[in-house]
Formats: sequence, C-alpha cells, structure tokens
Amino acid sequence: MSKKKKRPHGHYCKICGEHKANEKFSGKGHAAHICKACSRLSAAEKAAAMDMNRLMGFPMRRLSEGKKKWLKAKMKDECPEVADTAREVFNACFPHAERNAMKKQLVINTLSFEVHTEVYDGYGDMEKADCRFTIDRKNRVLTMRDFRTEDGEQCVTLEGGQMAKLLRYIVHTLEIFMWERDYCLNPDEEDYDPFPDGEEDFFMEDLGDGLEIQPQQEPEGSPSWRVQVEYTNHTEQDICSYEDCLPDRPEEMYLSLLDYFEPEDEEL
Ligand SMILES: [Zn+2]
Repeated sequence: MSKKKKRPHGHYCKICGEHKANEKFSGKGHAAHICKACSRLSAAEKAAAMDMNRLMGFPMRRLSEGKKKWLKAKMKDECPEVADTAREVFNACFPHAERNAMKKQLVINTLSFEVHTEVYDGYGDMEKADCRFTIDRKNRVLTMRDFRTEDGEQCVTLEGGQMAKLLRYIVHTLEIFMWERDYCLNPDEEDYDPFPDGEEDFFMEDLGDGLEIQPQQEPEGSPSWRVQVEYTNHTEQDICSYEDCLPDRPEEMYLSLLDYFEPEDEEL
C-alpha cells in the first residue's frame, strides 16, 4: 500500500464522505470505511447519507447516461431529503429539461391578460396602460379593450396559422406557464420553494395564522397585471402581480399583442 501524500492521517468514511481521524473509527469501521458516528445510523439512514454525499459532489455538466439514470431514480427516492436534493441537482444539470417537457404538453385554449401599470411603449417612452387582451384559440379571435377610452372591445381574427403561431410563441418563447415560478407570484404554492434567499420570514409573518384558513388575503389595491390561461389539457393558470413594473416577458407579450391593434403603416 502506498502512502497518500498531503492527506491528514485518518480515514475516509464512505457514508458521510468525511475524512476523519483514526480514533473516529472502530476496529471494524476501519476496514468497512464507516466512522463510529455513521455506524450508529440505521441502514436506511446510511443509504440516504451516502446518496446525499454523492449528490453533493455531483458533476454539474455532461452527465453520463448511467449517472443521469441514477439521478432520475433518486428523484423518486423515499427519503424526501434525497429526492429533493436529486431534483435540485437534476434541474441544475438540465435547467431546461423540465420546461421543455411541459412545453410539449401545453396548448393554450383561452387567455386573458390585463395590464394596469406603466409599460414601455415600444418607442422609448413609458406610458400608463390600462387594458385587457383576450385570446380564444377555437374562434381564432384576439380582443383588446382599452379602459382609458370609451371604444369598447376591438377584435381581430387571426387567419391561417397565425393563431397557432401566436399561442406557440406565448408558450414556447415567453414560457407563460412558468411565470408564477419565474416571478414568484404564488407564495402559497407548496410544490416549489419560491424563496431561495430566505425571504420566507417576511411572508410567514405576513400570513401568520391565516395559513390555516385559506390564505386568500391579497395585497391592497388591484393587481398591476394579471394573466389567466386555460390549457387544452384542462389545467388553469391564474396569476397576478402587485409590483409596479411589468417584467420582461409579460412586457414582451403586451407589446406583441398590442401590435395586432396598431394601425398598419401605409407603405409609400
Ligand atoms: Zn461517517
């Protein structure tokens, strides 16, 4: 056996992954590469600790098929900590995998988009918008109502593949189905952590005991923008924001929908 260079004396524990001093191992533990602390764990705890250890050291790029398969299996692990960590690692390795899988399934049936805040007008200025767009896939109708005028609702019918193209753009390019996650719009949803930076304290205080009753309290005033979507697979999305400014992709959607109602420039 060759001596390891520049390594402290001791042993590597294959469970916790730590390099520990000799006295942290029992006689049997030396050979098995399991430290005293880890040897007291149950078999399931040992397995989970090894998984966590492996996940923490996972390479973040170019996974072999074997590693990818292992990671996918661990996302369904019965130990929640392992499953959650595996999912985080997977999403870090394949940031677009989940989105792309969803895109394939989602087709918008109807959409309503309200904007009641300042937006970039496409020509370098900010202006106050106060309007609602609706899209109806089946009737191929796009409407706009500008609440600042008495004009009522304007309508355009999108011919040919134009409607499909618009809806595809909204799902595939603007990724509307991810907006609540991307813009942290639904703090009461359970299946993801919208506060990776520990902002939850603020919200937990805010919601307080209200969590037991449905946390329906909304901030004062009316939303600055709101999106309601119904997809052909019957899932629905209803998000609103009370932030003053419209984020990039909602703004892009606003401008592209507005485009349909701009008078065409006559070519001279
Ligand atoms: Zn150990």
